[in-house]
Amino acid sequence: MIKPDAVANQHTGKIIDDILGAGFKIIAMKYVHLSDAMAEGFYAVHRERPFFKDLVSFMTSGPIVAAILEKDNAVEDFRKLIGATNPANAEEGTIRKKYAKSIDANAIHGSDSNENAEIEGNYFFSQFERF
Ligand code: GDP
Repeated sequence: MIKPDAVANQHTGKIIDDILGAGFKIIAMKYVHLSDAMAEGFYAVHRERPFFKDLVSFMTSGPIVAAILEKDNAVEDFRKLIGATNPANAEEGTIRKKYAKSIDANAIHGSDSNENAEIEGNYFFSQFERF
C-alpha cells in the first residue's frame, strides 16, 4: 500500500516504477480514500498500541494506493525493497529512505507474511477484481 504521505507528495509513479523495476508483477491496484472503519480494520492488530489513533488519523488523511503484487519470495523481497519502518534506519536506495519522512508517515506498507498478504489482499480486492 502506498500511504497518504507518498500519494500527496506525488511519489506514486516513482514508487510504482521502483516496484516494477525490482521484478514485482502487479496483479491488482486501486486508488482509494480509506474511512476510519477501513483503516481501523486494516491495522486492527495495532489496536492496543499507543500510536493507534495517530495511525488511523494519518491513514485516513488522504487517498492511498492498494495493490496485490506477485514475485518469488515476494514478502521478504518487498520488505527489503521498502526498508525499515523508521526511515531514519532504512538502508540507502530503499523506498522509505527515498520517500518517507517519519516513522508514522513512512510512505509504504508491505505485508509481513504470506498469511497476512492473503488477508490484506482480500481486505481490498474481491476475487472478481483480482482475476
Ligand atoms: P511496518 O510493518 O514496517 O509497517 O511496521 P509495523 O507493523 O510495526 O507498524 C505499522 C505502522 O504503524 C508503521 O508502518 C507506521 O506507519 C506506524 N507506526 C509504527 N510505529 C509507530 C510509532 O511509534 N508512532 C506512530 N505514530 N506510528 C507508528
